Amino acid sequence: MAPVAEQSRAAVEALAERCRSCYQCGRCRSACPQGLDLADGPRAVVRLAIAQDTERLLACEDVWRCSECGACTEACPMGVDVAGVLAEVRAMQRAGDGARCPERTGADLAAHQLKRRPTLNSLTLGLRMAVRGFLPRGRLTTMSLGARALRAQVRRPSRPVASADDLKVFYPGCALRMDREAYAATRTLAIGSGMRLAEPDEARCCGHPARDPAVAPPPFTGTMLTACPACERTLAAAGTPTAPVWGVLVERARRGEYQLEARSARFVPYVGCLSDRDATLAVMAEAAELAGTEPLLAHSSLHATCCGALGGAYRGPTRGVTELVRFAAERHAPIVTPCLLCRDNVRLAARHERADVDVHFWPEFFRATPAAAVGASREAEERA
Ligand code: SF4
Ligand code: SF4
Repeated sequence: MAPVAEQSRAAVEALAERCRSCYQCGRCRSACPQGLDLADGPRAVVRLAIAQDTERLLACEDVWRCSECGACTEACPMGVDVAGVLAEVRAMQRAGDGARCPERTGADLAAHQLKRRPTLNSLTLGLRMAVRGFLPRGRLTTMSLGARALRAQVRRPSRPVASADDLKVFYPGCALRMDREAYAATRTLAIGSGMRLAEPDEARCCGHPARDPAVAPPPFTGTMLTACPACERTLAAAGTPTAPVWGVLVERARRGEYQLEARSARFVPYVGCLSDRDATLAVMAEAAELAGTEPLLAHSSLHATCCGALGGAYRGPTRGVTELVRFAAERHAPIVTPCLLCRDNVRLAARHERADVDVHFWPEFFRATPAAAVGASREAEERA
């Protein structure tokens, strides 16, 4: 027997022990935002572990479609760390010759790149995926995303100046840095609210797409504001306290420090699977109320289904996101999301569906006007 297979069998025995109390109730599968897009789902992976079916575990692609949100572990009434079991199977596959799906290939290439450079370069990653036979499904959208990444490389955004009184330390991650417009929109919204953002020099890719602890940044001291739910999760796991910049801005708007405005009277919120669904939907609802726009909701799990960011560009849109796009198209409302990866994948899905739906990253939809400026313009109107 090959040493890797022997090691895998020993690891699977240990996994079976960790899963021993599972009685296959299926709550982990119901809680999973990947939902219909998994062939087997977390319950099936646990079942394979209990059965010590090493061969099928090593071939299971679903473990790479897991976004590591942790909902399955939270839902398990028997205390099985389901997300940890999936992570273990991924590690086993990486050590051996397991599944070769786009998600695994993308994660391996990202890990390789991040061990050499601090930031993920999506152009290089895309080219390497293509060399390995994984071509993006939505060619037009992918080309426009590639052109944007190229422009961002040619003209990198300048750093905010760290001189204001109300300075917050901000972690932009690599997705935001590669998107000039979204980066500028985030800063404009923060500045409109009276907040100044400074970035630590070590703010690089958080490492999340690589799913490899070896590429995670070292912990920072103090709370780090993030605009990306993947950064938020990964930094928190690495020991850095984080807070979403989005939540801080809404809290300030609530205190009347500035006025929030929205681009349209209605919108469909979409928080993706990495955000804390209920908390983020509540913050979006509050922002909507403050800005005088109406959030349109179907059922809350539709607004948190996985966009397929970890390989979806190569597999095509997820079923959940396709349903969300249809929901928005029927209501002629844009989709607004606090995750940049989600925005791009939902755009791909809308194009795939030929649906006339705008998709915005939240700072592209909301605008902040300082309270003093609002007061001055009201006074001018009254005088006129
Ligand atoms: S929720 Fe827990 S007990 Fe139920 S199927 Fe999943 S792992 Fe097993
Ligand atoms: S961690 Fe999240 S995405 Fe992964 S299997 Fe569990 S619920 Fe599904």
